[in-house]
Amino acid sequence: MDLQPDSSADCEALENYLAFLKLTEADSARLHELRPLFRSSANLFADTFYAHLLSFEETARFLQDPQTVKQLKELQKLHWESLLEANWDKEFIERRKSVGRTHAERGIEPLFFLGSHFQFIEHLLHQFEAGNFEQDDFSEHFLSVVKAMFLDIGLTLESYFAQLSTDLRRALSMVWKANDELKQFARLTSHDLKTPLGTVANLCEEALDEFGDQMPDEAVELISKARQTAFGMSGLINELLSVSIETQVDDANDDVSIDEVISEVLDRISQAISDKHIEVDITSPLPVVLGNKVQLREAFYNLISNAEKYIDKVPGQIRIFSESDESYFIITITDNGPGIPTEELEQIFTAFRRLQMHQGHEGSGLGLYFAKSLIEHQGGKIWVESELGIGSSFHVQLRRSL
Ligand code: ADP
Repeated sequence: MDLQPDSSADCEALENYLAFLKLTEADSARLHELRPLFRSSANLFADTFYAHLLSFEETARFLQDPQTVKQLKELQKLHWESLLEANWDKEFIERRKSVGRTHAERGIEPLFFLGSHFQFIEHLLHQFEAGNFEQDDFSEHFLSVVKAMFLDIGLTLESYFAQLSTDLRRALSMVWKANDELKQFARLTSHDLKTPLGTVANLCEEALDEFGDQMPDEAVELISKARQTAFGMSGLINELLSVSIETQVDDANDDVSIDEVISEVLDRISQAISDKHIEVDITSPLPVVLGNKVQLREAFYNLISNAEKYIDKVPGQIRIFSESDESYFIITITDNGPGIPTEELEQIFTAFRRLQMHQGHEGSGLGLYFAKSLIEHQGGKIWVESELGIGSSFHVQLRRSL
């Protein structure tokens, strides 16, 4: 229900609340009688409440400035004064709506708002126990306070959630817009990348055609390899774009041989593996899983090329093996690199997260983030175990082929 100020919907909503909560004139009268009790101890209440808030890290960060705390204490007193005033009018509604909106905008969760209601009840009970209330029977008054609080909480939370859903809609439309722009950017970039790659491949071909017979065999071989690599990269760009841009939810249900995936990944980094004298030990056969081959290959490429990149020992070792249960396979990639501190084991899967000790290596901090989202897109899971100085094991759980 979206309450508009001064709208008839407000009046109707208020009437509904009053009827459901059985808030009557008699309640208003009882709340009025409580005003002196609150007024005489309002400062104590505000001080106690803010001392409570300052004891929590989440709320204390909003309350660093003493001037702000002073103003908030005054607002807090006014809030409860107006509850005991018991004027259930448009101004009352608008105040509650404004509290809800402000809390949603500033990211203050309902928990903290409910906390102040609890403190208010506790405060009133203490005042009553201390004998500061003239009448013997407090229960009727207490019930009236609870009803008024429900009204207060209901109206505030309604506008809190209305504001959240407006913000969410706005954020979603920004995400879609950014997504469209990103797709457009990817298309243009791929075009810009593919054109010079094609030129490189053609120039290699021309060089071979025109001067091939004058070149030593080794030069011919190197240029042929360069030509092949340029063609390969152009194909790779096409493939990556087709999966990253046009990804559908149901495109991850093919039978994919992990043996093939790993062998293609190793081809891509064979030079680096041999330059660093890394031994790669694969326990074959690796399984056939349900997924999308290009996406799985990108995910495993990120994991295996990280292992290669971060290995700091000679000889380096990468082991790849799998285990299974009824529904899943778990493929593990173990390296004897530097390892990852325990407190970073989850963090490294978030975007742009890089370990301090690896700032000197090339990298963007996006590889594991992409690997995780690609694996999850296949209905899988990824996690890492590691021991500092010994190495890391990245585990990828994937669905069994049917
Ligand atoms: P990038 O390698 O581009 O920095 P990643 O997202 O692939 O980004 O990895 C995030 C960080 O996790 C790396 O910067 C590195 O600090 C750490 N990391 C990833 N893989 C390993 C590994 N096999 N061994 C040790 N640290 C790793």
